[in-house]
Amino acid sequence: MNYVFPPPPVTSVPVLGTESRFPVHRIYCVGRNYEDHAREMGFTGREPPFFFLKPADALVLAATDEPALLPYPSLTQDLHHEVELVVAIGEGGGNIAAADAPKHIFGYAVGLDMTRRDLQGEMKKQGRPWCIGKGFDASAPITPITPAGQALDVARAAIWLKVNGEERQRSHVAQLIWSVGEVIEHLSRAWQLVPGDLIYTGTPAGVGAVRPGDLLEGGVDGLAPLRLRIV
Ligand code: MN
Repeated sequence: MNYVFPPPPVTSVPVLGTESRFPVHRIYCVGRNYEDHAREMGFTGREPPFFFLKPADALVLAATDEPALLPYPSLTQDLHHEVELVVAIGEGGGNIAAADAPKHIFGYAVGLDMTRRDLQGEMKKQGRPWCIGKGFDASAPITPITPAGQALDVARAAIWLKVNGEERQRSHVAQLIWSVGEVIEHLSRAWQLVPGDLIYTGTPAGVGAVRPGDLLEGGVDGLAPLRLRIV
């Protein structure tokens, strides 16, 4: 095969405790999947889950020792943090029943669905796609992936985010409106899931703006925590 230029490198995420990496196919995200966050965004009640995507190469590895550096993106005055449980798909499929979802899960990570909230708000108002607010470069920080067998009971874990040591977001994965299994059920009706897909499952209340210099520390109990500095 002759390519007209070298193909881009495969985006991948380290697997905790191994020398192996998880090659990434797509990044799916769930909107408004914690009730308190849905309320803070001006919505109420349980609505069917809805999805958007980020490009795979928007990932930024947020290591646990030295904080990763995240450049403040262009075009925004209102960059928001959204801490989320990320599910890594190891076995693909379509029309996966929620009860069968566990066998499709390779592992879990902590991620940030970074959002240019001002641009997202403008697109919402105009009924336009969210891409510019959600799918920009470096919009998807992520920790190394913990294999499912080594993760504690993720479905009952606490999820939290601190900015400069001050807690901004705290909830429990059990508070998800649509559980991980239900998310996989709905998502796999709309897209054929393949190994390498990542799913950002939604954020609890407390989203807010960050500025250059801010240190973000986030976690889901039982998984490697995330550390990131905005520069
Ligand atoms: Mn989100």
